[in-house]
Amino acid sequence: MSTRRILAMQDVVKRTPVELNHPKKQVSEYFGANVFGIDAMREFLSEEGFTRVMEAMEKGVTLDRKIADQVAACMKAWAQSKGVTHYTHWFQPLTGTTAEKHDGFFEPIGGGRAIERFSGSQLVQQEPDASSFPNGGVRSTFEARGYTAWDPTSPAFIWGNTLCVPTIFVSYTGEALDFKTPLLKSLSALDKAATEVAQYFDKNVTKVIGTLGWEQEYFLIDAALYNIRYDLQQTGRTLFGHSPAKGQQLEDHYWGSIPERVLSFMKDFEYESHLLGIPVRTRHNEVAPAQFECAPVFEEINIAVDHNQLLMDVMEKVAIRHNFRVLLHEKPYAGVNGSGKHNNWSLATNTGKNLLSPGKTPKTNLQFLTFFINTVKGVYEHADLLRACIASANNDHRLGANEAPPAIMSVFLGAQLNNVLDELEKSVSDKKLSPEEKTALKLSIGKIPDILLDNTDRNRTSPFAFTGNKFEFRAVGSSANCAGAMTVLNTIMADQLNKFKNDVDGIMNSKKLEKDDAIFQVLKRYIAESKKIRFEGNGYGEEWKNEAKKRGLNNIPTTPGALEAFISKKTLSLFEDLGILNHREQESRYEIYLETYTKKIQIESRIIADMVNNQIIPSALAYQKVLVDNVTGLKAVLAGADYKKASDTQIELIKEISERVSVIKKAADDMTEERKKANNLDNAKKQAHAYCEKVKPFFDEIRYNVDKLENIVDDNTWPLPKYREMLYLR
Ligand code: ADP
Ligand code: MG
Repeated sequence: MSTRRILAMQDVVKRTPVELNHPKKQVSEYFGANVFGIDAMREFLSEEGFTRVMEAMEKGVTLDRKIADQVAACMKAWAQSKGVTHYTHWFQPLTGTTAEKHDGFFEPIGGGRAIERFSGSQLVQQEPDASSFPNGGVRSTFEARGYTAWDPTSPAFIWGNTLCVPTIFVSYTGEALDFKTPLLKSLSALDKAATEVAQYFDKNVTKVIGTLGWEQEYFLIDAALYNIRYDLQQTGRTLFGHSPAKGQQLEDHYWGSIPERVLSFMKDFEYESHLLGIPVRTRHNEVAPAQFECAPVFEEINIAVDHNQLLMDVMEKVAIRHNFRVLLHEKPYAGVNGSGKHNNWSLATNTGKNLLSPGKTPKTNLQFLTFFINTVKGVYEHADLLRACIASANNDHRLGANEAPPAIMSVFLGAQLNNVLDELEKSVSDKKLSPEEKTALKLSIGKIPDILLDNTDRNRTSPFAFTGNKFEFRAVGSSANCAGAMTVLNTIMADQLNKFKNDVDGIMNSKKLEKDDAIFQVLKRYIAESKKIRFEGNGYGEEWKNEAKKRGLNNIPTTPGALEAFISKKTLSLFEDLGILNHREQESRYEIYLETYTKKIQIESRIIADMVNNQIIPSALAYQKVLVDNVTGLKAVLAGADYKKASDTQIELIKEISERVSVIKKAADDMTEERKKANNLDNAKKQAHAYCEKVKPFFDEIRYNVDKLENIVDDNTWPLPKYREMLYLR
């Protein structure tokens, strides 16, 4: 074993759970203590200030300078009362992480003295240099400056010693450079469209919000082992590693008892999360060894997204205290399940109703069916865009790999709702329905709700499943910003509901139909048109691939191909028409995603070559030398048949090592050549394809041979922590 590996293993063996010294209190006593939420605002703001901020939060009205100054002063006073010295605009650039630049409150006032200041203008707007964030060409023609602007709909919070103000991030000329800007626009488009449709059923509905409850999967690894795996450090995943004899076959990890050390970590990050107002509530072991999940109570989408971004950061920081590292990568280990982030999505009204919850009365049921069928239709219309919004180099390892949803988009409804839709499609005729027919229809729908909610009829293999009162988008990657998927889903739904409204109003006028009749007819048409996207069977099976092909559904296995849907005519006008992202912004995003893909594969490829040359081959050769010395020694003491008998196996091993080493070396060199060619290509699309089709295929060949070497080389010589060491937490 390399000295580094021995020392790391010694550390691991000595670990004990970290003792926590949190106050022994109920969560409700400290939940949100570090959030400048409603309670803190009421306490620190004047009555007028409070009212105006609430307005800004609910209606998106901008605050005038005077109020902004007051809010800033109060935020500062509140933060100072908790020992805070710095503030930052906290935003979500397209790198996928969050960005922060801390500035001190203090300001020199001459004479060697200073005061603490935080003005309204510092709260409302900042000008970070945008040139070091991905901008996909948006910047080059304009100035390097970008703006961050306060998002009053998401409360400021204290993390560490810093007051963090959630903001959007746009270029000098107003183009979105982040995830939050289009998300907020999509939420307001969704609100408008959904409110109009909801008013068919209930005039009291004046606002519809999107809700999101994410489920976050992750792996933990001991920090000592992580620190000597360069692949994990630099790429987030193991580029080599033979599967352990015991992986997840016995299915003994899922929901099993949580190891003490892990539990201590979980309690700690949950505590920190609760202080930040992140309502995490559920924790359990996941399917793979060393894999876990946490989930909060759902929230309004913008807040839920911020909370998820923040949680990922909190987890990473808290893990270090516990001598763990969190792996949020979609596929840290080959041969065991990867990690996703299920996005549970629904729509809630200001009247407290969940629009995707089947109602108890015929009227509320028709409302439910309207939103339900429109979701299915929207997904059908923009399946490729949904595929695109979850595409990443990391997620390519998961999708379609028989452990995660396939790369083919489909919707799972459950047997019951499928029957309801089939019934509706059959029984609604094109003419006016008699009152009896209508009641019968609505009543047949009326039988759905009760059975549905405790229906555990769930299909884990579907990328997009209805789960009783929400849709669950399961193909989102574990490290992704949920905003990408949520923006697409909200936008698709807003567009679909606008079309629905048009269609219903249209035939009410042209065919002189009553509202209910018109709704039934349009729904019937949508059911027929979107049928192809519905799939109840096993999404992991080969048969589904064939069946999907027959249905004309796309199966796009890799990111460079999937991203095309971002710049299709259909997508460009979808986003532009609803004012979410204009052509330029959309195209720049497409470029950024391609570049990100290329960079990730490029880094992996370099690390593979480095590790092969500096760690794997030298270790294999060191062991080979031991064998060669031994064989030479045998020759000195034995002869003829005796020598042959004693040396045969070793000579085979010596040969196998030589063969594998030369295959690995050649593949690594050829891969490096392909990389050079790819780097010389002149556009992002060609480069991404070259990395995907020419560079990446070497990964498997190299890994296969390295993993074989791992199996034959003396454990004492092997330089890297093995899967069996990394995946078992003690
Ligand atoms: P599971 O899917 O694991 O069985 P649940 O159905 O209880 O678990 O919920 C999973 C997630 O879905 C949780 O984060 C929960 O808050 C969220 N969720 C529940 N209802 C809604 C809703 N109306 N809108 C959005 N998310 C929801
Ligand atoms: Mg779930």
